[in-house]
Amino acid sequence: MPAPDTRRIPKDVCCICGEQPVKCLDEFGYPFCAGCDHRYHLLQIGRQYSWPALRYDGYALDGDMQAYLLTVICGTDERVFALLEALGELEEAA
Ligand SMILES: [Zn+2]
Repeated sequence: MPAPDTRRIPKDVCCICGEQPVKCLDEFGYPFCAGCDHRYHLLQIGRQYSWPALRYDGYALDGDMQAYLLTVICGTDERVFALLEALGELEEAA
């Protein structure tokens, strides 16, 4: 699956809320501010574990990069935090 083309995404504002400054830049090129860095963490940990399928508290996520990107860019905070919990359990089990 090809990596997303992020060339047209400005790197100096958060790709979620448009705030400055940017705290972290994902390997794909998505910039995140401090208030949105939980989304950055979901991408980082997902990549680290090769995009595992997740289920937590009524939320589910397919095990592929595209599904992670959709959640990180378009998902609600509630969804992102729930899936981070699922990844936390996965890390504890590793
Ligand atoms: Zn933000």
